Amino acid sequence: MNLILLHPSDLIAKNLARLKERRYQHIRQVHNAKIGDELRLGMVDGLMGAGTIVALSDHDLELEIQLQHPPPEPLPVTLLLALPRPKMLKRILQSVTALGVKNIYLINSYRVDKSFWNSSLLQGENLREHLLLGLEQAADTILPKIFLRPRFKPFVEDELTEIASFTTAYVAHPGVTTTCPYHQGEPVTLAIGPEGGFIPYEVDKLQSCGFTPVRLGERVLRVETAVSVLLSRFI
Ligand code: SAH
Repeated sequence: MNLILLHPSDLIAKNLARLKERRYQHIRQVHNAKIGDELRLGMVDGLMGAGTIVALSDHDLELEIQLQHPPPEPLPVTLLLALPRPKMLKRILQSVTALGVKNIYLINSYRVDKSFWNSSLLQGENLREHLLLGLEQAADTILPKIFLRPRFKPFVEDELTEIASFTTAYVAHPGVTTTCPYHQGEPVTLAIGPEGGFIPYEVDKLQSCGFTPVRLGERVLRVETAVSVLLSRFI
């Protein structure tokens, strides 16, 4: 946790926040905090700054906060990710959030196991916890938006051209010969396949929306490795 993230409900007065449970434990145990210590803070979807510990008990603490500077610029990459298994999804969401991605489409693909769409992880606010961990890690405050698209064809035919407009679009596909280029600071749309890869029909459909198939070297990587290495080309 390189940034303590605050939520509006933590505020007990205009510049005073009270924290308990996970964040309280972390501040006590990892920061070994005492009254008067200053910590790096940010408000979810808001500004960043610092907080001074003004009260500390056995179960909570109070911080006087000053939030005045903006979070880092987002990474201008829209990610299309064939829905991975829930355990892997948690880790991928944490790392892509830490890398600054703000728009993530979880899409269907022929080789996505149908049961993944029924995972409780996709219900309600359950994904949020993993996004928050990514923000805390990276010292950022802006939550990514996650869009669930359980039907591939209507998504590609009805929405994708617009999503990818004004961006350079790539589909990561081992086996092609073009290597993924570097684009720093330019808008990119990146599609990553499921564990079994995209089928040829899906690659064709993405190509018809302007996506170029690209690869990273000769080796086939795990999805989570491929996601991080591909994103590193756009940082
Ligand atoms: N069994 C598939 C591999 C799928 S790897 C096959 O042999 O084709 C899962 C996904 O990770 C792929 O769909 C792709 O988007 C990404 N990926 C993994 N390794 C990659 C590489 N070397 N280059 C480009 N994309 C890669």
